[in-house]
Amino acid sequence: MATVALIDGTNGERLPIKPAYGLACNGCGWCCATEACGVAREHIPDHPAEGPCQALEHDAGRFVCGMIRRPSHYMRLPNDWADGPLGGMIADALGAGRGCDADDPR
Ligand code: SF4
Ligand code: SF4
Repeated sequence: MATVALIDGTNGERLPIKPAYGLACNGCGWCCATEACGVAREHIPDHPAEGPCQALEHDAGRFVCGMIRRPSHYMRLPNDWADGPLGGMIADALGAGRGCDADDPR
């Protein structure tokens, strides 16, 4: 399996190994470190078309989606009052909680 690209914020912690496609997501971050999804590319101002997602956050040994957690921060909105409903809509659009949807690396 390919190694996960080193991402700032891990403090050298060992990252979870990607589970097989369709199994429960363990927050390994491989998907979003490899390629930013459409939500990131379309809604984060000036997000590069290639490379890791700028909204990928590391917390307590796993990676989490910053666009679900605090979208206003990444979308550079003037306030965070809509973070709850907006994050929920983004979670639904991304299929959060439905298992690993990233193809297995070769
Ligand atoms: S969807 Fe898969 S690759 Fe992405 S963080 Fe979850 S387990 Fe890792
Ligand atoms: S927006 Fe969230 S799901 Fe999409 S690539 Fe970034 S961290 Fe991953």
